[in-house]
Amino acid sequence: MNNDDHRLELIAVGKELFSRGLQTTRSGNLSVRDGERFLITQTGANLGYLSDSNFLTVGLADHLPIPAEASCETPLHRAIYNATDALAIVHAHPIHAIALAQLSSDDRILPIHNEGLAGLKCIPIVDTTVPGKDTGEEPGAIAAALTQSCAVVVRGHGAFSIGNSLDQACYKMMLLEDSCRINLLVLNHSRTAAAPKVLTVSKSPRRTGPRRFAGSD
Ligand SMILES: [Zn+2]
Repeated sequence: MNNDDHRLELIAVGKELFSRGLQTTRSGNLSVRDGERFLITQTGANLGYLSDSNFLTVGLADHLPIPAEASCETPLHRAIYNATDALAIVHAHPIHAIALAQLSSDDRILPIHNEGLAGLKCIPIVDTTVPGKDTGEEPGAIAAALTQSCAVVVRGHGAFSIGNSLDQACYKMMLLEDSCRINLLVLNHSRTAAAPKVLTVSKSPRRTGPRRFAGSD
């Protein structure tokens, strides 16, 4: 696949994620591996309306410079490619996954429906390294989690998924969000059924501080 094909694929997947509500106006980023380089979205780009000019090429070697226009998560994408066999990476802000991670004091999410179990198995949760900021995450824990799983939720921020194609990474992100939505529905039902007069959750969220999403990627 040449660079033009990669751009078309990135544009199509950006639209798909945006139409499903997995991105806000300027959140998220996408990349595709191309030999010793990868193609990544521009910082602040609206993934629902990408064009040919919204992509930057970055070398995989750590000593190579990263263009200032590239996504702020570019160092993390580079670390993930260097730690795994991934050929594509999706970063999104899936609302139900963020909410479920916030409610959970555990370090993983277990899907409870067949497709989620088959496609994701166990989803690790790591804490954001930049609470309340729009800067990129520290790569360590996220890249390490993706050596064990095809998706990871970053508590207080969003999620990253990998695949051997951009379509596959996109599918894993959608499956992650669907799985977390189902888990939340069941969790909410079981809590209200057990204690119908109690409308608030019994366990305090692990982190309660606000997080800004506007302008982040
Ligand atoms: Zn983000």
